[in-house]
Amino acid sequence: MKQLNTYFISALLLSSLALTSTNTSAQEAAPGAIGHPYPNMPVIATIGERIDKHITVNESAKGPAIDPAKGYRLQDLGKGLYMITDNAYQSMFLVYETGVVVVDAPPPLEKYLLKGIAEVTNKPITHMVYSHMHADHIAAVNSLQLKKGTPIIAQEETKRLLQRANDPSRPLPTVTFKDKYVLKAGSQVLELNYYGNAHIPGNTYIYAPAQRTLMVIDMVFPGWMPWRRFAVAQDIPAYFEQIELINKLDWDVLVSGHVARTGTHADVALQLEFMSDLKKATSKALAATKAGIDVDVSYGENPWAIFDDYIDKVVIQVVNELTPRWSSRLAAFDIYIWDQVYSMEQTLRIEQQ
Ligand SMILES: [Zn+2]
Repeated sequence: MKQLNTYFISALLLSSLALTSTNTSAQEAAPGAIGHPYPNMPVIATIGERIDKHITVNESAKGPAIDPAKGYRLQDLGKGLYMITDNAYQSMFLVYETGVVVVDAPPPLEKYLLKGIAEVTNKPITHMVYSHMHADHIAAVNSLQLKKGTPIIAQEETKRLLQRANDPSRPLPTVTFKDKYVLKAGSQVLELNYYGNAHIPGNTYIYAPAQRTLMVIDMVFPGWMPWRRFAVAQDIPAYFEQIELINKLDWDVLVSGHVARTGTHADVALQLEFMSDLKKATSKALAATKAGIDVDVSYGENPWAIFDDYIDKVVIQVVNELTPRWSSRLAAFDIYIWDQVYSMEQTLRIEQQ
């Protein structure tokens, strides 16, 4: 068993495998032990390592309880605007004089969307809005049984990507816009703004001015570590810029598409603080680390192994530095910290410092 491999396997398996090792003793091979190729391994389990117990989720990250008999909860955001959630996914609808505008239809909420709307009104759905093209946020749209000709509104990049996806569970938008679209429905208003690719092209900011509520999906995770690799943002420098933008925009309530509750400016500020700290720590570790130092001689034939070793050493330093500061401040820090740091080091090294 080569030293690099021992880094990726479970700590539970490690001692038995190390016993068969020809070049290290069981004790030396344990992560963090003196003589291990990666001393000072973080206490946070690495990607792919299964553990029994994760860090307990903070109270501040939890949302209002869900009635288990219902499976969802409806949150009144004021003046006819509602969020439907199972405390993992979030969708929204806006009631006006003669109808209902629905924004997003995540499949986990498929059974609840019409029920949730029926709790407050029997008016028909007259408009559908897609926040972006990802199936996990809109692929239950057919469950809404939209009447033929009901406008489906989305940014033009969303339409382009949906044409390519050719997925019958995500019917194409029928009304598109480039930068801005103001949807007026009776006396109600939704302002749709597009600020460019960050998470995915087409991801739209949906603002309800009367309710001072902003819906932006897959960007901010109130109380939580972002989903892996900055929520798989396709443009990470732009993701950083847009989290700043969300913080600067004027709103009171944030519907972010995920986790157990709506967000506040304090949630955005906390995520920004984490991102800034992560960026700083990663820059420092990149500057302090050189590729090809203290690596197995056999790596000489394999430049990718040498580079992989370098990246691992950078990431380990960052996880070690951030863990004491952040593991109790963002829920699920332990789940995705490795993903975030691998993503951050790559962005800083080859995209933008
Ligand atoms: Zn998405």
